[in-house]
Amino acid sequence: MTRDNDKHEWMQTPSTTALLRRAVALAKTDASLFEAYRRMRRNANALTRPVSLDLTSRCNLYCEGCYYYEGDTPVLADEVDIDKWSALFRRKAEEGTRFAYFGGAEPALYPERLRAAAAFIPYGTLATNGTLKIPHDIPYRITVSV
Ligand code: SF4
Repeated sequence: MTRDNDKHEWMQTPSTTALLRRAVALAKTDASLFEAYRRMRRNANALTRPVSLDLTSRCNLYCEGCYYYEGDTPVLADEVDIDKWSALFRRKAEEGTRFAYFGGAEPALYPERLRAAAAFIPYGTLATNGTLKIPHDIPYRITVSV
């Protein structure tokens, strides 16, 4: 007995490896396309082992519907020891992390934690509500959302 999907090859999702092989084969048909592919691979290699890290459970806003303040669940106390934050970032870097998504509640409240992260994790994006100035020496990209 065959499964229904077996009859319709076009409906099957190709594996990542198969897609990559097809992309390489296509890129090799054109020198500029191949250079673009190599550039993309270099950039992708810089983003190995991404992690998502909440730097704080505090926020300077109090948006209706924010899940941090929903229900009866108490907001967790933040770690205040910057050395412990540094140890966490160092450990992540030793595990191979070169890119992090920094969230919180509001990570821009703690630029010193972002600086501590930058000492070990070179690339990242922080998700901020956009109401706080982020010092220029913080090397990460910024995503504004609430
Ligand atoms: S800005 Fe984001 S984290 Fe802060 S209260 Fe609003 S939804 Fe929550």
